[in-house]
Amino acid sequence: MEKKTFSDWQQLAVQLKIEGRAFIDGTYRDAASGRRFDCVSPIDGKVLAAIADCGEADVDAAVAAARRAFDAQVWAGLNPRKRKAILLRWAALMREHLDELSLLETLDAGKPIGDTTTVDVPGAAYCVEWFAEAIDKTGGEVVPADHHLVGLVTREPIGVVAAVVPWNFPILMASWKFGPALAAGNSVVLKPSEKSPLTAIRVAQLAHEAGIPAGVFNVVPGGGEPGKLLALHRDVDCIAFTGSANVGKLIMQYAGQSNLKRVWLELGGKSPNIVMPDCPDLDRAANAAASAIFYNMGEMCTAGSRLLVHRDIKDAFLERLVAAAHAYTPGHPLDPHTSMGAIVDQTQLDRVLGYIESGRSEAKLLLGGARVNAIDGGFYVEPTIFDAGDGSARIAREEIFGPVLSVITFDSVDEAVSIANASEYGLAAAVWTANLTTAHDVARRLRAGTVWVNCYDEGGDMNFPFGGYKQSGNGRDKSLHALEKYTELKSTLVRLR
Ligand code: NAD
Repeated sequence: MEKKTFSDWQQLAVQLKIEGRAFIDGTYRDAASGRRFDCVSPIDGKVLAAIADCGEADVDAAVAAARRAFDAQVWAGLNPRKRKAILLRWAALMREHLDELSLLETLDAGKPIGDTTTVDVPGAAYCVEWFAEAIDKTGGEVVPADHHLVGLVTREPIGVVAAVVPWNFPILMASWKFGPALAAGNSVVLKPSEKSPLTAIRVAQLAHEAGIPAGVFNVVPGGGEPGKLLALHRDVDCIAFTGSANVGKLIMQYAGQSNLKRVWLELGGKSPNIVMPDCPDLDRAANAAASAIFYNMGEMCTAGSRLLVHRDIKDAFLERLVAAAHAYTPGHPLDPHTSMGAIVDQTQLDRVLGYIESGRSEAKLLLGGARVNAIDGGFYVEPTIFDAGDGSARIAREEIFGPVLSVITFDSVDEAVSIANASEYGLAAAVWTANLTTAHDVARRLRAGTVWVNCYDEGGDMNFPFGGYKQSGNGRDKSLHALEKYTELKSTLVRLR
């Protein structure tokens, strides 16, 4: 099939029909209060649709539907092979609707169409497929026990799972929750970000078409309120959250104030990307460093936002890095040639520009630093690089979640490890070196959930657990370990005599 052009996508965007209602108990419905909020495209600041602004009655209805479905065992009680077949059908529908879902994601979040068609939407479908394929192959254990006993250890679905997710990879982050949670037999209530609710709302209908029973998958759009209500809800058994550390801390409190539901947090990062003087390929490392911070407009939890460069190679490296950064000129997100789209909304734009202003007084600006008017009314920022000296500047410590890189200089391996670990976060890290001992030694000492050696952001495969140390969260998305979050372990002891 021929690749779509910029004008093809623009035409499809005009014809697009957008659903903005909540999906509860197998049907779309308005918020009980009738309230709606505007969904604004960051591409040009125009309103795309009116979205149901869910409140207490909607959250209660969604949780009640999820509970009814769980108790009736219409999903959890199916043979895992049957659940697998339905989930595979759902993933196939996502792939069939690739253009539509990618377009929704691009219009809603400002992400380049070249990324949503190749990463976000296929990635979400793949996640569902992966867990669907896994679930009829993962069993329990028969454990050693006294001779008169048979000891079984089984994993059972936990019940009603609430998933509260951010806007940077809207459908992909959601799939990392609903993929394993549904495969394990749970009912799910998904609360997408108010900044990017469209794909979550649309895939709910596809779930229904695929055969996921009513009540098993619900979507309640809205701002922080429905997220808070879910976290406080006494009939939610588990909350899986991806977002900022500040809200993550609140989620833990809400669980403590209510029913001690299980809490899983995937939070922010300020990931160090360390380039040793014996880096085997400076060009490759510079391209990877640029992609690590400028891909997805820097709106990446794993963004390599702290670039630690050894003093001996700093000048040579920065020259290559600045050249590589030019590939990320902001452009129209519907143009397949665009590699950097729009910042998600005015609030996030202001936040990024605020950090750039603070950087100007604390560090030396090497590249960018301005808002650009790529499309009238839209939210675009140039790729920005600061020389942040020893890394004590605010821009080098706090998560910005935008295309702003802080370069930090070091003189020894120990100093690099110490700077890298001097962060409240611990999501990801990278080290570039030709020395095998340095590679393993540094990888072992870095306090991060993922460490890349001589690459960055590679291994997007589902086989790797993903999550953070320290205030980057707890628990892991992806891989078979993710199933641990959505199941309870049960020991059954059968006395024979
Ligand atoms: P956020 O914390 O502001 O919002 C996340 C979600 O929580 C949204 O759906 C929001 O509506 C909801 N929310 C807001 N207030 C709430 C409250 N009081 N109670 C319950 N829910 C509430 O985060 P964001 O701005 O959407 O996303 C950016 C953050 O997400 C960054 O910190 C980023 O690093 C992090 N993130 C982490 C990962 C990961 O896997 N570790 C992945 C992507 C993004």
